[in-house]
Amino acid sequence: MINKMIANILPYMPKKLVWMFSKQYIAGQTLDEAIVNAKKLNEEGILTTIDVLGEFITTLDEAEENKKEYLEVIEKAEKAGVKGNYSVKPTFFGLLLDKEVAYKHIRDIVAKAAEYDNFIRIDMEDSPCTDMSIDIYRRIKKEFPTNVGLVVQAYLKRTRQDIVNFKDINEPDSKVNLRVCKGIYVESADISYKKYEEINSHFLDDIELMFKEKMYPSIATHDILVVEGAYKIIEKYKPAPEDYEFQMLYGVTPALRKSIVDKGHRMRVYVPFGKQWFGYSTRRLKENPKMAGVIIKALFKKG
Ligand SMILES: Cc1cc2nc3c(=O)[nH]c(=O)nc-3n(C[C@H](O)[C@H](O)[C@H](O)COP(=O)(O)OP(=O)(O)OC[C@H]3O[C@@H](n4cnc5c(N)ncnc54)[C@H](O)[C@@H]3O)c2cc1C
Repeated sequence: MINKMIANILPYMPKKLVWMFSKQYIAGQTLDEAIVNAKKLNEEGILTTIDVLGEFITTLDEAEENKKEYLEVIEKAEKAGVKGNYSVKPTFFGLLLDKEVAYKHIRDIVAKAAEYDNFIRIDMEDSPCTDMSIDIYRRIKKEFPTNVGLVVQAYLKRTRQDIVNFKDINEPDSKVNLRVCKGIYVESADISYKKYEEINSHFLDDIELMFKEKMYPSIATHDILVVEGAYKIIEKYKPAPEDYEFQMLYGVTPALRKSIVDKGHRMRVYVPFGKQWFGYSTRRLKENPKMAGVIIKALFKKG
């Protein structure tokens, strides 16, 4: 209860205070810090996907700036030898202002990653973005078959059919690579499942469908029940270790993460960084109000 209250008032708290909580979830305010933290994860046998924080833009100039920033991030992280790829949010490149502009920017970023034989994951945002993001993914995959992937959300009723539809672009040497996650946005009951059990069961069905179709599932969850369900599916389909991966967010459930790595599964951590850390952290905290306890503890801790 108290945690929920704190989570709600968090956006109005001084930024310094919020940072005490946020630094656990954010790999830094600068790229240099993010690279150091990504390399620490690499040392633990974990791959990364670096994300520049920020979503909502109001002008296409910002979209252009954001593209340039990503190109620099890729250049620098590759030169630093980080083992990992990159995640992008289409609205960061103007999806809701001009879809064609967003497509071109994301395409340029994928082209840059392709120079390093690397990969860009297109994150999935709320439902007005779904069709446009799928379309952008399809167009870019045609040009760069192995350098781009998308996200699907198990809470959306449409997702199973979306996966089935991707069969037409799934090839043995350029698999459809989808991050399956529960979904983080508030969607209406017409288009989304609301119950925990229902979302989990669709999550596992989606992964199973992907294994059956010989696609590449990226299983993004911190939910032990989903992880255990995924283990059973992996046991059943016996994919090679390089044919799927688990994914988690930076700083979340590190013990579960380690147990997955210790079992020999590929693990990738989402490494968000950047000036716009404030919005990201308040969203994460609302998702898990228990974490508000961290702030209270930090307030009373010495040093
Ligand atoms: C790598 C990655 C990428 C993602 N990309 C997207 C995306 O593109 N689009 C999208 O809509 N969503 C995305 N998400 C978010 C996702 O949709 C879920 O909202 C989020 O992962 C919580 O769901 P869960 O499967 O962990 O299960 P939940 O049932 O929410 O959580 C299970 C347990 O995990 C722990 N936990 C979960 N979240 C946190 C947290 N923030 N802090 C501390 N503990 C926590 C708690 O112990 C909780 O009880 C992504 C998630 C991951 C891991």
